[in-house]
Amino acid sequence: MMERLAKLKETVYLSLHIDHPDELQPETVDLIRAFRSMGYVLLSQSVFLKGVNDNKNTLKEMFLRLFELGVRPYYIYHGQEVTATTRFVMALEDEIEIMTQLRNELSGLAFPQHVIDIPGASGKVIVPSNHWEKDTSVVTDFEGKRVRTDNWSTV
Ligand SMILES: *Cc1c(COP(=O)(O)O)cnc(C)c1O
Repeated sequence: MMERLAKLKETVYLSLHIDHPDELQPETVDLIRAFRSMGYVLLSQSVFLKGVNDNKNTLKEMFLRLFELGVRPYYIYHGQEVTATTRFVMALEDEIEIMTQLRNELSGLAFPQHVIDIPGASGKVIVPSNHWEKDTSVVTDFEGKRVRTDNWSTV
């Protein structure tokens, strides 16, 4: 099926969900290489997870390995508080600090966009780095809805 899909005249973008460099075992790497040779454009998405990838070095290793394999890191998400995942959710400020440091060490090609799917709001909202001083207490989604970042209530 993947070979047939790759023969379409349209460019097909394929996004892989990878949260830790240890997921890039030989079997996965072989699949990534096969998809690349079929002509897919490969992207990745990840989620910040406490205790799994909550540090700069783990993420740097993961993004660099993906980049070297021809997978463009596309998005990294703030964790969502849904049943049984609360213990993995990190503080947004800690994620921002990691992303700010990472951007100083990685090419933009190996650096994904940090986004958040705000509960009750529409679509992704880009999370700013600490390179600029700004007030991160309220965000606006693409429909203009304003939400507080400390408790996700509408302003
Ligand atoms: C982010 C996302 C996409 C990709 O949309 P972009 O315009 O590339 O950001 C597609 N489907 C879902 C459900 C998404 O959350």
